[in-house]
Amino acid sequence: MSRRGIAVLGSTGSIGTTALRVLARQRALFSVNALTAFSNAGLLRSQVEEHRPSFVGLVDAGAAALPDWRMGPECLVEAATRDDVDIVINAVVGAAGLDATLASLERGKRVALANKESLVLAGDLVEAACRRGGGEIIPVDSEHSAVLQCIMGRPRTEVRRIVLTASGGPFRDWTPARIERATIADALEHPTWRMGRKITVDSATLANKALEVIEAHFLFGLSYDRIDVVVHPQSVVHSFVEFVDGSVLAQVGAPSMELPVLYALTHPERVPDSGVPPFDPVALSPLTFEPVRTDAFPALALGIEAGRVGGAAPAVFNAGNERAVALFLEGRITFGEIPRAIESALAAHSGAAGDTRDALLAADAAARHHVSELYRC
Ligand code: NAD
Ligand code: MG
Repeated sequence: MSRRGIAVLGSTGSIGTTALRVLARQRALFSVNALTAFSNAGLLRSQVEEHRPSFVGLVDAGAAALPDWRMGPECLVEAATRDDVDIVINAVVGAAGLDATLASLERGKRVALANKESLVLAGDLVEAACRRGGGEIIPVDSEHSAVLQCIMGRPRTEVRRIVLTASGGPFRDWTPARIERATIADALEHPTWRMGRKITVDSATLANKALEVIEAHFLFGLSYDRIDVVVHPQSVVHSFVEFVDGSVLAQVGAPSMELPVLYALTHPERVPDSGVPPFDPVALSPLTFEPVRTDAFPALALGIEAGRVGGAAPAVFNAGNERAVALFLEGRITFGEIPRAIESALAAHSGAAGDTRDALLAADAAARHHVSELYRC
């Protein structure tokens, strides 16, 4: 493999910093040529000192920014479309990652996609951008990386269904009444993964698993009735693929995002690396599986139904969720309001037009506005 140029979008976040740890071990294969962050100029500066990229972008102008940095939201697409970038690690959180995903694919780049929201918001457009530009998406999400590793080289006609695993989040065995009143601190206490705040709340509502079902639908071209979810509290089995002959493959390992990040860079090859904790099945035992308590976590069914409806509905689900989670994290609404806000946004806007980027972004804006109005925020 010749040395490939990498852009890390969202380099200061949980996935971004994980990616830079992986890349620091793999300097013979990869060179970090572009970094972008939202506002954490201090951390970005130390990353620049370590990795010496040729392009640095900061969305929100900050005091610690250096004069040669590119400021403003356009820096994402600029970083993603540079000639010295072969692979774009999109580790931005939320719909803000969409344009960089589309632009990278149009320019024929590989996107190592952590930003699942861009695929949920505009799955059809992302697919069209891949076809037009010759780019490809390799998932960073651990479940989708697992599925990809299991189905590698097999025709899709041999796949009967996939089963995505879900940790169940911190409220897996809580009563609905207790979930309703969960605090911000409760929701941020994830049992198996350390992640950014938004995805951690999504894991507590199971909205994250709905986003992942929609993500899997687009990535693997499977209809929704061939994508199931099972709760697996230990997060060791990263997902299952069941084939037409009844054989089931799984990808397994201690919870760590280092492997999915590395694999998204090297796929279909594997390279030696030390980022994953050694596999010890005895230490990881027991492994258990449970059905999802859909009544206690209504966001999951709402999201899957939005996926089935298609058009702008997944964009409305995503935007309603993003706005509701932001309000929850600001202390303005209770945890129990999050799925109700999403449901209300879907009831009002899921039939909106969704055939172009601008139509989808209009539906996204309408859903955010709807949720803000519900709580007069
Ligand atoms: P995070 O909040 O830790 O980091 C987000 C990054 O995005 C930061 O670098 C921030 O500077 C940047 N950012 C935020 N808002 C932005 C904006 N408006 N414009 C440009 N940049 C912006 O989040 P994270 O946990 O690293 O998650 C990133 C993405 O990866 C999400 O889509 C999440 O669902 C996905 N993901 C994360 C994990 C995980 O383990 N953390 C696992 C699977 C998927
Ligand atoms: Mg995941």
